[in-house]
Amino acid sequence: MGLSRLVLFLVLFTAGYWLWKKFSNQKKTKQPAATATHMVRCNHCDLYLAQEQATQKNDQWYCCADHARQDN
Ligand SMILES: [Zn+2]
Repeated sequence: MGLSRLVLFLVLFTAGYWLWKKFSNQKKTKQPAATATHMVRCNHCDLYLAQEQATQKNDQWYCCADHARQDN
């Protein structure tokens, strides 16, 4: 293996490592925003739960369809 090949290998290795680091950093910073859940309170029983699991009715949040129906 000549010196130029060794240098080329080192450059490729460094570039690959830099790209991998950049990519994994992006993944890390993007994840919290994607998994961040907004907590809402059930208007009937005061239970806190994630908004995506809650039921909305008349601008109020409920933990289940039953409570949404019972609370008018
Ligand atoms: Zn409830």
